[in-house]
Amino acid sequence: MRILIDMDDVIADASERFLEWYERDFGVRYTKADIHGKRLYDIIPAEQVQIVKSYPHQPGFFKDLPVIENAKETIEALNNLHEIYIVSAAMEFKHSFLDKYEWLDKHFPFIHWKRRIFCGDKHLIKADILIDDHDFNLSVFTGRPIVFSAPHNIHYTEYERMENWLDAEKIFGLSLNPSPKERDL
Ligand SMILES: [Mg+2]
Repeated sequence: MRILIDMDDVIADASERFLEWYERDFGVRYTKADIHGKRLYDIIPAEQVQIVKSYPHQPGFFKDLPVIENAKETIEALNNLHEIYIVSAAMEFKHSFLDKYEWLDKHFPFIHWKRRIFCGDKHLIKADILIDDHDFNLSVFTGRPIVFSAPHNIHYTEYERMENWLDAEKIFGLSLNPSPKERDL
């Protein structure tokens, strides 16, 4: 199978960076629980919204983002069985390319450059499965769309859902080895 996997809020924790930079600029630390079912823009004063919306357009936003839990191990296992492509609509953020590329080199070195697609509109890219957090990508995909849970998409009901990367066990019939921490318990 050919499987397309999005980056932000699927394998890279971009939501966390919004919360981090908001605290840097406005001194308030919100948590993922605070933005459950919404976006940070929905809970902050209106005069701050444009500033927050500008964050991903600024250099450094995508640098060293945390990896979403269990993404690496799971995608490495999937990569041994399927054709995996990382697909990011990076064109929206002109400073993101180098940070995203280096992030993949660091955390997903097994994803060859030929399997990395930095694009604009994702609807042109055909495959069997797309794992993504946004309706605007999932709704135009011609294969099997799977929504990856993120604070802003918990209300989506029209897609098959992946709550986290361990869900790959049941969705793809993968057998993941428990992490060393779990084995010690
Ligand atoms: Mg995304």
